[in-house]
Formats: sequence, C-alpha cells, structure tokens
Amino acid sequence: LAKENGRNRYEFFTSSLSRMAAERVSLERDLRNALQKKQFELFYQPQIDLKTGELIGCEALIRWHHPKRGRVPPDAFIPIAEETGLIVEIGHWVLEEALQQLSLWTTDNSSFNMAINFSARQFNEDVPEVMKSLLQKYQIDGKKVTLEITESLLIKQPDQAINMLTKIRSLGINIALDDFGTGFSSLSYLKKFPLDKLKIDRSFIKEMHRNKDDIAITKSIIATAKHFDLTTIAEGVENEQQVTLLQEIGCDHIQGYFYSKPVPAFDMQQKIKQNTSGKLQLVFAS
Ligand code: C2E
Ligand code: MG
Ligand code: MG
Ligand code: MG
Repeated sequence: LAKENGRNRYEFFTSSLSRMAAERVSLERDLRNALQKKQFELFYQPQIDLKTGELIGCEALIRWHHPKRGRVPPDAFIPIAEETGLIVEIGHWVLEEALQQLSLWTTDNSSFNMAINFSARQFNEDVPEVMKSLLQKYQIDGKKVTLEITESLLIKQPDQAINMLTKIRSLGINIALDDFGTGFSSLSYLKKFPLDKLKIDRSFIKEMHRNKDDIAITKSIIATAKHFDLTTIAEGVENEQQVTLLQEIGCDHIQGYFYSKPVPAFDMQQKIKQNTSGKLQLVFAS
C-alpha cells in the first residue's frame, strides 16, 4: 500500500510539473504573437516632486491583454520574454510607444519626464544609436527621458555597461537605478556607474511608517545619493505617513498608489493637462 501511495504521489508530482511546463509553453507561444496582435498597452504612473507637489513625470509600465487569460501582469511574462529574447522586440515597441506618447502630450518647453524600463537582455551595442534615432524621430530632448535599469545590467559586464551608459547619457537621457537596495545592490555602485537617479525599492517604503530600521536604511540611501548628486525617488508610496516621513528625510520624488496607480494613456494625459493649470494638491499630514 505504501508503495502504491508513493507511486501515486510521484505521478501527481510529475503531472503537475508537466502541467506547469505546458502552461509555460502556451504562454510563450502566445507571447510570440502578442506584438503582432496588438495585445500590449502601456500604462503610466505619475511621479511627484515632494517639495512642490508638482507632477514631474511618469513611468511607462507594460500591460498584456490576453484574449483568454485577461490581463497578464508583467512579472508573469517579462521573465519569459527575457529568457526567450522576445524582450528585444517588445522593448523596442515600449520605447517607441512611450516616446510617441511623450511627444503628443508635452510641448518643447515642458520638462515632463518619461521613465522607461529596460531589461539587461535588451542592452546591446546598438542601443545608443537606436535611442538617438528615436529621439530624432519624435523630436524629443533626451533630458525628458529616463531609462530605468537594474543591477543585473551592471554586474554582468561592468565595463561594457559603463561604456554604453556613458553613450546614452551623452544624448541627455537620464539613467535611473531601479529597485535599489534589493538583491546584491550596494552603495559602491553609485561611485562606479554613470547614474542620474535612484529608485528606492518598495520593500523599504512599505513598512517605514512603523519600522525604524526601514527609515534608517532609506535615510542613508538618500544621504549617499545626495553626495553623488543623484535624484532620489521612493517607489510604492501608499499613505500619508510615508509621504511625511520621506519629506522629512529629504527624498526628492515619490511614485505610488498614494498619488495614483498606473493609468491608461488617456487618463495620464488628463493629469498632465490639470497640472498645467496649477500645482497639484498633495494631502499633507499636518
Ligand atoms: P518596476 O519597474 O519596479 O515598477 C514598479 C511596480 O510597482 C509596477 O508594477 C507598479 O504598478 C507597482 N507599484 C507602483 N506603486 C505601487 C504601490 O504603491 N504599491 C504597490 N504594491 N505596487 C506599486 P508592474 O506594473 O506590475 O510591473 C512590475 C515590473 O515589471 C516592473 O517593476 C518592471 O520591472 C517590469 N516591467 C514593467 N513594464 C516593463 C517594460 O515595459 N519593460 C521591462 N523590461 N520591464 C517592465
Ligand atoms: Mg521601473
Ligand atoms: Mg522598481
Ligand atoms: Mg521591479
């Protein structure tokens, strides 16, 4: 009997494994056609200046509308896109779509900034040239664009990364280090790599209003970032207490559900229009 049970369990295990494998194959197959079928959309999440309360830019975040599964979150398909190399094509679509929106939304004298996520797998020698021609095509000043990268891009081939980031920055484009403080990321990166902004990971912000350790970590990240002349952005800001704390410790910008979730292009455009008629009203704790 025990033997039979063991065998059943084994069969159960293999069948659930093969179900997962089949699931993955099916997602991958659908992902291959998603661009052509126009199933991707960009959402945009506002970024706010903590001193003035002004809307200073947004981050473009991809959404996949799957005909059967509904909305598939990026964390469920970006890793597949990276492993299969599909991220190169998808990433190019994201760049073009985000830059086109930016050119439609803002005038020449606006400083509204568009942040775009960039996978390590997307980086190759062509990127600086591609960026240059896209900026030309949409008549955009590089200063209005930020590429969000993660440490994985920096650690694999540091010298190559420095070289390429330097070329990209010479177009005026800003480089932001995303999810800072997670993984193996260390403060020494700030000395080594050409960067403009630091995005403090959501995990430190999440509990900061009830956890002194998180405040201490965030404070020291901000102090070090200031030393290197980097702009700091806190990710995942969800409540007023976090806003107040971040103001107190001198964080420059915030992004998070407190102000707005990521929204479709039309809604983002409305927010931009509203902001030109006056400064945004941040609800302060006072
Ligand atoms: P990320 O770049 O760190 O983006 C921030 C994520 O945090 C977004 O998740 C956003 O919706 C979420 N978020 C923002 N504010 C809050 C908040 O207050 N609370 C909570 N709980 N979450 C918040 P999303 O849109 O699901 O994207 C997840 C990740 O997928 C992104 O993390 C990024 O690494 C990747 N990704 C998204 N779009 C792209 C893209 O176009 N290209 C590439 N390569 N990666 C992308
Ligand atoms: Mg990001
Ligand atoms: Mg992030
Ligand atoms: Mg992330």
